[in-house]
Amino acid sequence: MYIGIDIGGTHIRVGASVDGKNLYEKLDFPTKEFEDSFKEIINAVKTFDSPARNATPARSDAASSGEHSVAGGKVKSVGVSVPGPLSAKTNLVLSSPNLKGFNEKPLAEMLKENLQVPVKVEHDASAAALAEATLGAGKGKNPVLYITVSTGIGSGLIVDGKIYRGLYNPEAGHQIIDTHGPKCRCGQGGDLEAFSSGESIKTKVGRHPKEVEGSREWYDALDILAIGITNSILHYSPEIVVIGGGMSKNQKI
Ligand SMILES: [Zn+2]
Repeated sequence: MYIGIDIGGTHIRVGASVDGKNLYEKLDFPTKEFEDSFKEIINAVKTFDSPARNATPARSDAASSGEHSVAGGKVKSVGVSVPGPLSAKTNLVLSSPNLKGFNEKPLAEMLKENLQVPVKVEHDASAAALAEATLGAGKGKNPVLYITVSTGIGSGLIVDGKIYRGLYNPEAGHQIIDTHGPKCRCGQGGDLEAFSSGESIKTKVGRHPKEVEGSREWYDALDILAIGITNSILHYSPEIVVIGGGMSKNQKI
């Protein structure tokens, strides 16, 4: 049994997989301050950790494959994704504006000590990029650039099947488009996230981005997103750009 944990700004999702490819069961709970969230994560992982357990499929693709019940088992390893920035050298979350109390916590070591299995902590967009390059829309392409457009804008780059890290992580969402533009949560003025993220649209029009799809403001945000992605293509020269995140669900993007 392999465990995947996605720690987001509002939700934590803990998923279990027998083969490391298909998700069979998932728990979802709100993100709290570090100590409380850490305890809930440990408890969630332990609910999956049983040698004789049968897991129930959580996704339609697993259900449609006819595998309604698969053998569970002992947890072998745990992968964790966190919002950046993440130091590639120390593997610590650094000044994440979305997570309270997580900064500088040795999350991988703490989980390893509690669960007694190997634990890997990864930047969330890089983890998603690796999944797309290995199993998803980027399979067979190299390099694969992944851009996620939701509350914020994140990016990950996969070169020769491996995550390109740099010192921290490529952050295409924080490339500056216009220094006179609106201010981003990161402190910069006029970067891509400040123009084109779900949060920026919400700030600009005072409504949820889904409610203003197709409006002038929504298309303006997409036009600037296109400029940002074009810049990133010129920087990284990928064979494919995979766009994910909540806003990508709209066909017109
Ligand atoms: Zn920014």
